[in-house]
Amino acid sequence: MRLLDAVVIGGGLAGLHAAGEIARAGLGCVCLAGASPGGLLLSIESVQDVPGHPDGIPGYDLGPMAMEAAMDAGCEVRGEQAVAIASCADATGPWTVTTEAGEVLQARALVLATGSRLRRLAVPGEHTFTGKGVSHCASCDAPLLRGQAVAVVGGGDAACQEALTLAAHGCRVLMLLRGTSWRARPAWRERVEAAPAIELLRGAQVAAIVGDDIVRGVRLEDGRSLAVAAVFVYIGLAPDLALLAAGPGQPMRLALDGSGRVPVDAGRRTALRGLYAAGTLRAGHDGQAATSIADGLAAAAAVRHDVMTGGWPTVAPAADSSLDSQVPA
Ligand SMILES: Cc1cc2nc3c(=O)[nH]c(=O)nc-3n(C[C@H](O)[C@H](O)[C@H](O)COP(=O)(O)OP(=O)(O)OC[C@H]3O[C@@H](n4cnc5c(N)ncnc54)[C@H](O)[C@@H]3O)c2cc1C
Repeated sequence: MRLLDAVVIGGGLAGLHAAGEIARAGLGCVCLAGASPGGLLLSIESVQDVPGHPDGIPGYDLGPMAMEAAMDAGCEVRGEQAVAIASCADATGPWTVTTEAGEVLQARALVLATGSRLRRLAVPGEHTFTGKGVSHCASCDAPLLRGQAVAVVGGGDAACQEALTLAAHGCRVLMLLRGTSWRARPAWRERVEAAPAIELLRGAQVAAIVGDDIVRGVRLEDGRSLAVAAVFVYIGLAPDLALLAAGPGQPMRLALDGSGRVPVDAGRRTALRGLYAAGTLRAGHDGQAATSIADGLAAAAAVRHDVMTGGWPTVAPAADSSLDSQVPA
């Protein structure tokens, strides 16, 4: 079994930045990045609000750039999934990580950066028509939908961004807002409201997605039917905590906060010795790419401190805390 200073799980911005910074400190590090380096941003045409890129940068550039930087720093980045993690019985020794190939790695520090999945609507038709008109990737499908009416469900920044992408590709976009107000930041709202190809429908709660071989429309809770060729769902993120469950269908090994995310201290340390949580799975994350980058760097600094001093803090973050500076970084 191979003993490493650190293993990072996750190939989004948090994981790749943590991995690069840990390797840069001279520590032995493997990053299990899964199949898609870049994570959620991989398909985004222009990622906004990333420091150093005032005009935006494609997500399909940002992810691979972070991966190359981590590799250049000496981290072994693998396009593999982790399938299980375990701490030793008395919680003082290294963590073990089992890869999808069945290899077992041991690590003094384990950074969990598995991010989030897009939430599903959970209405009839959503599962049936996934890949047949129900999509989470505007830039992938927009070129095929030019001139057609499509629905974007959601009222956050991501929904606005992807509605604008679809409009830029010549789609007529119906943006369906569940309530009368929406979560998107003012800059996104203004751009959406100024786009002639985007129509906002407030109080539009989707009851079902309908079609035959492919999507033909949506039915709303109030009985209205809308004819659309595709439905893009951006109703928020659900943290991917599968590795934290003690087993299939078993409870989490860590107490989570009220939003179902992992409480951490300022060094992104969890309540479990040697386990760090960076990125959108941790409590208090604002959903922004820059915050995931910052998380990766903060976790790396704490890993470096803890591995080099061997002195893991004993004060754990409480379930209702996030970024409490209870522990020196
Ligand atoms: C449509 C959309 C548009 C957005 N646009 C912007 C924007 O313009 N600007 C902005 O600041 N933010 C934007 N965001 C938010 C941004 O995507 C996230 O804040 C950021 O990408 C999160 O990075 P992360 O590393 O925390 O997680 P993720 O990107 O979710 O990465 C997690 C990674 O872990 C991997 N993983 C999961 N489980 C395992 C496992 N068991 N083994 C190995 N790997 C695993 C996943 O495959 C993934 O690669 C957008 C989000 C969406 C959905």
